Amino acid sequence: AKGHGRDNFQFYTQELTNTAFERILLETSLRRALDEEDLVLHYQPQISLIDGRIIGAEALIRWNHPDMGLIPPNRFIPLAEESGLILPIGNWVLEAACEQARYWQDIGLPLEKIAVNISGVQVLRSNILEAVKRALNYSRLDAQSLELEITESTLMHEGGQTIASLESLRTIGVELAIDDFGTGYSSLSYLKRLPIDRLKIDRAFIHEAAVDNNDAAIIRAIIAMGHSLQLKIVAEGVETEQQSRFLQELGCDVAQGYYYGRPVPADEFARLFSPSTDD
Ligand code: C2E
Ligand code: CA
Ligand code: CA
Ligand code: CA
Repeated sequence: AKGHGRDNFQFYTQELTNTAFERILLETSLRRALDEEDLVLHYQPQISLIDGRIIGAEALIRWNHPDMGLIPPNRFIPLAEESGLILPIGNWVLEAACEQARYWQDIGLPLEKIAVNISGVQVLRSNILEAVKRALNYSRLDAQSLELEITESTLMHEGGQTIASLESLRTIGVELAIDDFGTGYSSLSYLKRLPIDRLKIDRAFIHEAAVDNNDAAIIRAIIAMGHSLQLKIVAEGVETEQQSRFLQELGCDVAQGYYYGRPVPADEFARLFSPSTDD
């Protein structure tokens, strides 16, 4: 490769410039999307496996791009995290989700919890407690109706400061869930120290649960371990009736996935799950 140094050099500088340029473009348009309200939340139901009722919804962000249509979060959240834009975006998500949940409660939708995803950057580089308090005040939503989802990897990489932040959130009544649980290597003793209420089993384990003995064993172990620590267990990515029945038999508390409903815009969520539309 050294022999063609000059060509390669040109090739690579151009690549780098393109990439950097594209990132700046993307960052600029993401910033504009936030200002012009092109970010939207979709909502996916969470179902109690005890009685089949909808007890909550997870808010999931999308970028409604004027030319490209709906862009999924995996395509812009990493950039938002690197650029710091996740802080204003995260605050917007908190406020919009709390406002929506309060509205649904006001019109009689039996929604106990709204779950909001929080980036590790928000916990580490901002005053998450203040942001959450502001969203709750502004929306007049009870803290008990808000649940924050934080990934297992975020929790594992951060130290005492993160735990202190999370504890402060819990003192105001907000619940905390570990998202994508099972993909990290949290030990029982580590879990015991964390101020959390729920474990959300990663969908990778749910997928094969009813047919793969290893995955079934992992799920069984997570449920037993979680329950022994008084945690509620949520299964994500439930796509079939078989998976749903299997999780119910294992004593899993809550389920979420395409089997019960895909993430949908707020008005559609209200239509699908309003108790007064059962005929
Ligand atoms: P997550 O928190 O693990 O969210 C679950 C993802 O699984 C969602 O993808 C959801 O649409 C998808 N899903 C739900 N049910 C099923 C199912 O039955 N089968 C399959 N295959 N997938 C299912 P989505 O909406 O594309 O979100 C991807 C990730 O983006 C989320 O993963 C979360 O980490 C992140 N994210 C979404 N919204 C936000 C947000 O407001 N803030 C932050 N910081 N991250 C967010
Ligand atoms: Ca989540
Ligand atoms: Ca997850
Ligand atoms: Ca995930």
